[in-house]
Amino acid sequence: MNLFKQTATELVSALKTKQTSAVELCSSYLKKIADLNPELNAFISFNSEAVLKRAQTLDDQKEKKGKLHGLPIAVKDNFCVTGTQTTAGSKMLEHFISPYTATCIEKLEREGAIVIGKTNMDEFAMGSSNENSFFGPCKNPWNLKYVPGGSSGGSAAAVAAGLSPVAIGSDTGGSIRQPASYCGVVGIKPTYGSISRYGLIAFASSLDQAGPIARNVSDAALILDVMIDRDEKDSTSVDRKQPSLAQLKKAAKGSLKIGLPKEYFSQHLEKTTQNKIKELLENLQKDGFQTVELNLSLTEMAIPVYYIVASSEASSNLSRFDGVRYGFRNKDQSGLSDLSDFYKKTRSVGFGDEVKRRILLGTYSLSSGYYDEYYIQAARVRRLMANEFTSAFKKCDVILTPTAIGAAFPLGDQAHDPIKMYFNDIYTVTANLCGLPAISLPLGLDDNKLPIGVQLMAPLFAEKAMLEMALAIEDCVQFKGLTQ
Ligand code: GLN
Repeated sequence: MNLFKQTATELVSALKTKQTSAVELCSSYLKKIADLNPELNAFISFNSEAVLKRAQTLDDQKEKKGKLHGLPIAVKDNFCVTGTQTTAGSKMLEHFISPYTATCIEKLEREGAIVIGKTNMDEFAMGSSNENSFFGPCKNPWNLKYVPGGSSGGSAAAVAAGLSPVAIGSDTGGSIRQPASYCGVVGIKPTYGSISRYGLIAFASSLDQAGPIARNVSDAALILDVMIDRDEKDSTSVDRKQPSLAQLKKAAKGSLKIGLPKEYFSQHLEKTTQNKIKELLENLQKDGFQTVELNLSLTEMAIPVYYIVASSEASSNLSRFDGVRYGFRNKDQSGLSDLSDFYKKTRSVGFGDEVKRRILLGTYSLSSGYYDEYYIQAARVRRLMANEFTSAFKKCDVILTPTAIGAAFPLGDQAHDPIKMYFNDIYTVTANLCGLPAISLPLGLDDNKLPIGVQLMAPLFAEKAMLEMALAIEDCVQFKGLTQ
């Protein structure tokens, strides 16, 4: 059996029936990581000894009851995992060893998953290319000269390159979906509040959600199903009492109506992506799926609203990194006249440029005098956007859009143009602003042989319908990943 060709679902059953063992599986993946990671830079850290020890413990257990018993999982480095270096891609936390584990990762571990390593990311999840990582950029496994997307670029690249069967990412404005799209894998951001944020290093608390990245929709659903739960430690987590997402059926022909917002197919969209979506829609229509054109007139406000809300929340969340309690402290203590000087010395060296830009932007929009004009205004538009989606979902069951304007771009291409970089998120940020579930799945390759993705959004808590539609699209596209 070629372990690398198996889906996570197949691996779980191979582990249950003892066709393979957790030790065999983890050793194979660890070897592949050791071989490929120096070039790919998808992992910031991995501890082979600890992984194999846990694998052995799981193999020794007589009953293999866990839904993920023995399955390796790569975890983005902004999730706390006991005893692991948890850096959030920042110098600020370079030497931070977490004393506890994030609730959603603990849930995976309780079902027998094994955290195989911590993946590379843009610093504090701010970025769309992984180039903002203190640990150097992760590369796109389809072409090492291209970015893997961000901020969960390491998780998406790890899955695409076959360094882990599945991975966990976080999505504040598209950071699971956009890298999934650039790397030719599946990424899901569930409804806000579905997965506990406890132990996920905060970027923008009203937008952040964790979610899975996998090679196909069923694998992603298997992981998502385990992660969703109410958690007392996160006051925004909800008690969903949802039907299982692990047992999905492909949407029956013509059963769901697909909304197509015309603003998402505007001049920004690259030709190849546009053509591929057109082709997909023709095939879905042949299969009896009805489509309806929608107007989401506030779409052009999405980027400005998102960057005001996200930066405002970030400026508040990141104030805790002050060099006093934990994390980096600048050793140069010369010329300090007061406490502010002390903070300045640490924060100006410990944070990278993009993080500092967001802190400045956020502090500005929250400052008295500008608060009403920026933050409050953005919060109002955000509400109107959510209302617009509620009306749109009266006309359709799911909304289909591109995930990004095109495929991955070359490393270094946008690093010096923040506004251009922000436009990478044009189709993904609305789902976060409105709390909606969304998925990106592969649609095909462009002329450079780089993957392109398609996105589905659904009403709040309607993950099941969204995933069943995604299964129908997956079946229609028949995408072949790098390891298949
Ligand atoms: N690229 C977006 C940003 O830089 C989204 C990031 C994310 O989802 N974490 O803010």
